[in-house]
Amino acid sequence: MKHVTPEVFLISAPKIDYEALSAYLAEVGGEPWAKRLDPDAADGQNLVEFAGRTCYRSWAPGLNPNVSRVRTDQTQYLQNILSSAHGSVLEHANFTFVLHNVSRVLTHELVRHRAGVAVSQESLRFVRLDELPFWFPSWALQDEELMSRAINILTILEEFQEWMGEHFGLDVEGTKFHEKKEKTSFMRRFAPEGVATGIVMTGNIRALRHVIEARTAPGAEEEIRLVFDKVGQLMLQEAPALFSDYEVIEGAWVPKWRKV
Ligand SMILES: Cc1cc2nc3c(=O)[nH]c(=O)nc-3n(C[C@H](O)[C@H](O)[C@H](O)COP(=O)(O)OP(=O)(O)OC[C@H]3O[C@@H](n4cnc5c(N)ncnc54)[C@H](O)[C@@H]3O)c2cc1C
Repeated sequence: MKHVTPEVFLISAPKIDYEALSAYLAEVGGEPWAKRLDPDAADGQNLVEFAGRTCYRSWAPGLNPNVSRVRTDQTQYLQNILSSAHGSVLEHANFTFVLHNVSRVLTHELVRHRAGVAVSQESLRFVRLDELPFWFPSWALQDEELMSRAINILTILEEFQEWMGEHFGLDVEGTKFHEKKEKTSFMRRFAPEGVATGIVMTGNIRALRHVIEARTAPGAEEEIRLVFDKVGQLMLQEAPALFSDYEVIEGAWVPKWRKV
């Protein structure tokens, strides 16, 4: 067995084509807003603000005769979206994470989130387990007898995986792929639920706000709390105006505005 630690990689975030955006804004009189945009602001925030302003044509006062004043500060604008629960505009900004070395305990819980989330999970029907990567929380690592018994069990399970691979002749030249798939699928039944694997998760900001809150809550599972704390930290960097309303209380991300 191999000791591993869950890791989170943010591999994709929104990227605006500012030339195309400017061309559109020139059509609708939105240049004043384009000029105000902070060139260093993350595209996720700019995209959400763009979507929000499109709704009311609030690029500048008077473009919509019903709008005589507009907010000019992006943080204030975005926080007004959160406080008024106009959260559908947050759905335009999607972020993709790789959750690496996370257990099947975690992935099984994660895939329950449906709204605004996409997942692609490593298939243990296709990918053969030649070792059993496993994460232990620090309190478990400190318990000598627990660790000794746990490692014994994992070693036996790992040896059984190796034995089955040989017994089924999976590496014998000419073994058909469907045969490998069938046996690999059987073999995974003898892997523990804590075996570390990987999952790609894409979520829009509205969904991420909800999942970060739910999965760092005090009643949530230890590993998923750890992983979604990392997701929260990354989102705080990517879109500070849309994640800085959280107060982190003993690891729980508690938002000022829920279910936006
Ligand atoms: C601490 C904790 C303990 C849990 N324990 C258990 C357990 O013991 N057993 C168990 O089975 N599950 C358990 N779950 C999973 C939980 O029941 C949900 O399935 C999971 O959190 C997905 O969240 P969600 O329902 O908010 O869905 P999401 O897909 O994240 O949806 C986000 C929001 O969109 C809305 N929405 C989504 N889909 C629909 C829909 N079809 N209709 C109407 N509105 C919708 C809801 O407002 C929802 O909250 C637990 C979750 C947590 C966080």
